[in-house]
This record gives sequence, C-alpha cells and structure tokens, in this order.
Amino acid sequence: MPMMHGKQRLNMSLNVRGRGMNRFKFMAAVVATGLGLNMATTAPTLAQDEAVREITNIKGNLYRFRNNGHFSAFLVTSDGVIATDPINEAAATWLKATLRSRFGKEIKYVIYSHEHNDHVSGGEVFDETATIVAHANTAEALHKNPFTAVPERTFEKSTTIKLGDGAVNLHYFGPSHTDNVIAIEFPAERAVFVVDAISVDRLPYRNLYAHDMPGAIDFIKGVEALDFDIFMPGHGSLGTKADVVEHREYHEDLRDAVQDVIDDGGTLADAKEQIKLEKYRDFENYDGWLGENIDGMWRLLTAK
Ligand SMILES: [Zn+2]
Repeated sequence: MPMMHGKQRLNMSLNVRGRGMNRFKFMAAVVATGLGLNMATTAPTLAQDEAVREITNIKGNLYRFRNNGHFSAFLVTSDGVIATDPINEAAATWLKATLRSRFGKEIKYVIYSHEHNDHVSGGEVFDETATIVAHANTAEALHKNPFTAVPERTFEKSTTIKLGDGAVNLHYFGPSHTDNVIAIEFPAERAVFVVDAISVDRLPYRNLYAHDMPGAIDFIKGVEALDFDIFMPGHGSLGTKADVVEHREYHEDLRDAVQDVIDDGGTLADAKEQIKLEKYRDFENYDGWLGENIDGMWRLLTAK
C-alpha cells in the first residue's frame, strides 16, 4: 500500500462516518500504511482544525449542519434561528459565526435531541442569546452532569416552539435510545430530525447500548405517525419515511430472529452463527455491527 501524504489523509477524513469505530478504523488505516506514527500521536488526527463542517439546505429555510460524522439541523426564521444539537464547543462556535455572517441572525432557541455529550456539548456557546429546550429527562440528566448548558425550558409529551414565521414541534414517545431522545419536527418543511434512535440504510449503533426494548420500536412507530417527507438523522444519509419504516422493520426482524434462537434453547453464540438478516446486507456497518447488534438484542430480550 503506498504511503499517504497529507492531502490523501484529508480525503480519508472526509469519508469518515459514524463514531468511534470508524475513527479507529481510519487511524488503523493510517498506521497500516507505514507512516511510522504510533497511535498515541495519531489518535487526535481528526482534530478540530481538520473537522469537516458544512451547511446544506434541506428545504425552504431548513438546513442541515455537519461536523464530521455528526449532524444537526437549524431553521432560519424572520426573528432568528431555531437550532438543534450544538455537537461540541468548536462546532457551535463555528456555527454561531457562520449564521451571523451568512444570515445576519442570532440563535434564539437550541433544542437538545437527548442527553449524550457527543451531540449536546457546547450549548454554552449559544446560551447568551438562546433559550435551551429539551425533554424533562434530558434536563434531569444534565443537572446531574452539567457538561453543557442546562435546559431552561422542558416538556413531557410534546410542545411547539414558535419564532417569527417559523415553528418546530417536539415529540416524546417514551424510552428508546436513552429515556429522553425526542423527534424534532419541522411541519412547514415536512421534515423530521432524530438522533441515534433512527438511521437510514445503516445498522443501529454497535451493541444497542442505550436502547430500550420494545421502546426502540415504539419510538420509531411514533415517528412514522408524523406527517413528513424528509428524514434527517444525526448520523449518515438523509432519507424518507420509507427509510424510517425500514429501520423499524430491521429492529423487528432482529428481535424476532434473536427470540427464535432463545425459544429454541440456543445460546448467544448460536444466534451470532445463525442470524444473517440478508435483506439488510447493503446497510452501512452490516459487516462491522451485526454481531454487536445481536449481542445487544440478546441482552435486551433476556433482561429480567
Ligand atoms: Zn446518543
């Protein structure tokens, strides 16, 4: 394999998707090329100065904001911006400056998707101009561990945020990925943004570590019942309602396959040997994460 130079490395970083595992693979690839760098010095390679950031128009005044493998969303209204996850301090600082220069607007509301720090760090960057909104359970978690600005406005089941000529609906469908992840609906744009609980043509993350079962499936059904065309995940490609349905079917097929092995008196090793879910072979991370997905579903289905 030829030695990679700086530009090639940057091109690889552009293709980095997802979370830790992908980054690790990326680093492993760098090491494998014989650059002679050890993990200790190469681990921070995807540092803030190399972060891939971009803003993409989705529809009307709705935009998607990317920071490496993480995505957020924002709606530009006549009276300012309603934004979702800040992602981290450097990303939020970049977004704040870009919104000022490109739209001449301040962020008036920030909506946290859920409690995880890889999505909602950096909230303090917007705190001066914005009201931070989240589910009550997210607020409770962040009061215990305030690594970011703590929500000032909370809700239990649903709420609507109106600002100027824009509106956003927030929905809670019970525990799924954490007990506080929400669906963020942009009704005029017919779009929904959800982080970590639903993805498009991509397996759920690793061993379903923060999942609730059957909550994960019930949450997706709640999203399916909303009236929308565009689905915006916190990781990976954009999709449609059909992709949301397919992600729920993946969960159901995985659940049924694992339950069948349990019912037949099989072991976890049997499940990992037998379950292939060929229908989803083209999903991103199929080869890397199917085994861990089986681990996670086994854990959830056998939990007392
Ligand atoms: Zn999460």
